[in-house]
Amino acid sequence: MTGQMTRHKKTMTDTQTQSGLLLIISGPSGVGKTTITHQVVKDLEATFSVSMTTRPQTDSDTHGLDYQFVTEAQFQEHIQNNDLLEWANVFGNHYGTPRKPVEDALTQGKIMILEIDVQGAIDVKKNMPQAHGVFILPPSEDVLLKRLRARGREDETIIQKRFEKAQLEMSIAKESGIYDQFVINDELQDAIDEIVTAVKNKQTAG
Ligand code: 5GP
Repeated sequence: MTGQMTRHKKTMTDTQTQSGLLLIISGPSGVGKTTITHQVVKDLEATFSVSMTTRPQTDSDTHGLDYQFVTEAQFQEHIQNNDLLEWANVFGNHYGTPRKPVEDALTQGKIMILEIDVQGAIDVKKNMPQAHGVFILPPSEDVLLKRLRARGREDETIIQKRFEKAQLEMSIAKESGIYDQFVINDELQDAIDEIVTAVKNKQTAG
């Protein structure tokens, strides 16, 4: 008698069977999210998901490393082709996570890191509840406003707009219940260590 092998088909909604781990990092502008994310990528030897965006490239952005800069028409085409895992409109521009690199990384057992906003995180968590969601908070709202001003990137009107969006995002993040971890970025290294430790624990447990 020959035994029959049943195959368990891996799906993106069945992340328990994925050997990799998806880490979502969100937080308001000026909270230090990018610095934290870059260091977490290094410490965990993870892969950073390069988002697609229609926002204009700035001097500090490297095309293909920080973002893939595309036109609105190109972005719409990617939506039509179902190339994006999630996408959102942030400050009037489109941002989206290319699906294929995420699927490939997870299938290969890697840790994939998405630095995305709350709307995107809610969408991803709906389909992939095993993803680890981290929301970074400032030590206080006052500190956040000071940090936004200290970046010297934008004029006061834009800073106020970002600050209001930050306040809204922080309350949506708390109410949404989708984040597994809230990390206060008071001491940078402590914030990084907290995330790295939580992911390692999750990997061991999973
Ligand atoms: P920035 O233009 O300052 O780099 O990013 C603006 C916001 O867009 C940040 O909150 C960032 O996390 C978010 N963001 C970047 N890439 C993506 C993405 O692919 N999807 C979503 N939903 N948000 C993104």
